[in-house]
Amino acid sequence: MGLTHAEAVAADAADPLRPLRDRFHLPDGLIYLDGNSLGALPRSAVAHQQEVVRRQWGDSLIRSWNVHGWIDAPQRLGAKIAPLIGAKPNEVIVSDSTSVNLFKLLAAAARLSERPSLLSESGNFHTDLHIASGVADLMRMRLDIVPRDKVEERIGSDTNLLLLTHVHYKTGDRFDMEAVTRRARSSGAFTVWDLSHSVGAVPLHLNAAGAELAVGCGYKYLNGGPGAPAFLYIAEHLQAQLVSPLRGWMGHAEPFAFTDNYVPARGIDRFLAGTPPILGLAALESGVETFEGVSLERLWAKSIALFDVIHGLVEARCPQLECITPRGPEQRGSHISFRHPNAFELCQALIADRVIGDFRAPDVIRFGLTPLYLGFEDLWHAVDRMAAILDSGRWREPRFAVRGKVT
Ligand SMILES: *Cc1c(COP(=O)(O)O)cnc(C)c1O
Repeated sequence: MGLTHAEAVAADAADPLRPLRDRFHLPDGLIYLDGNSLGALPRSAVAHQQEVVRRQWGDSLIRSWNVHGWIDAPQRLGAKIAPLIGAKPNEVIVSDSTSVNLFKLLAAAARLSERPSLLSESGNFHTDLHIASGVADLMRMRLDIVPRDKVEERIGSDTNLLLLTHVHYKTGDRFDMEAVTRRARSSGAFTVWDLSHSVGAVPLHLNAAGAELAVGCGYKYLNGGPGAPAFLYIAEHLQAQLVSPLRGWMGHAEPFAFTDNYVPARGIDRFLAGTPPILGLAALESGVETFEGVSLERLWAKSIALFDVIHGLVEARCPQLECITPRGPEQRGSHISFRHPNAFELCQALIADRVIGDFRAPDVIRFGLTPLYLGFEDLWHAVDRMAAILDSGRWREPRFAVRGKVT
């Protein structure tokens, strides 16, 4: 049967995290199940952007680099993200995009040994594999891509670096970060973790897990806005050994000495490249602030409850869908995915009914469960509308087969 509508309403009323929803602008009547791809707009972001644009950029102009602390934004934001990933404040910095940060970390870490293999998972998010192939070409390494269940056994004396995404973007499968990092480390390999689909949803304890290198995305669960800058993490003990392959002036020990020679800054600052994008950083700051005063453990407990509710409702009312996300909370992230041969059309029909999820080729429909702003009644309505679409076959209307550039 799944949860009834009345039970869903009661669950929202009893939810201690319910007031957090007010931190976001959510259009009336729209059910947003895509916060794992683009987080919703934090209400505070609107006023903060106004302040940064009008007063800081508009009035203070270039003085803002000092007087409004623009120059320290990458470090300041890194320190705010640190508690969300179980890291020390000086181990995280915000810069560039996830793709570029991956390049920087992989190329820098690959130089720590002569080993020839960069190892990753087939079906990993494609930008990760593309960036890895670029690094492998440049560094004259071999890119070994193996199925998920063969990754651990493939780690060997030839493995230089292991590149893995902690929570899989499509299936939601989660790696055991501590066990895999330990396994790689005992073979003498470093692991670079991509946290894009975990940060802000799954409690992360990078220091405790022995993780040494990681990147993560700002515009998904962190609510940093479209194309928000990303972050990178380097465990303190490794920072002095790594030098960024993108040697920009912002990573220099003395950017304003204007010297010809490159001298890397101390610590993680050396992984900055160019001038920080202040408007994007300001929006990300508003996004990260939506987590203020909330424990990740409580958020995760709500995510688990949301998952169980949508899973139960779909099982009861949409038997046409096959869930491909593991059931156990330890084995997955905070989204749920289903297989259907016409997942694309189904997704479009749902969007027309004001339920936004997303489609991942070739046949997956995916729903992000964002505990900061999603409620149980939202899920009830989403599944109710989906059951109606599936039962009527309304997704067959030709307009739902039209594909935009972004799917
Ligand atoms: C979203 C995501 C990215 C995004 O990379 P960009 O450089 O921001 O385009 C990278 N890797 C993974 C695993 C992702 O989920």
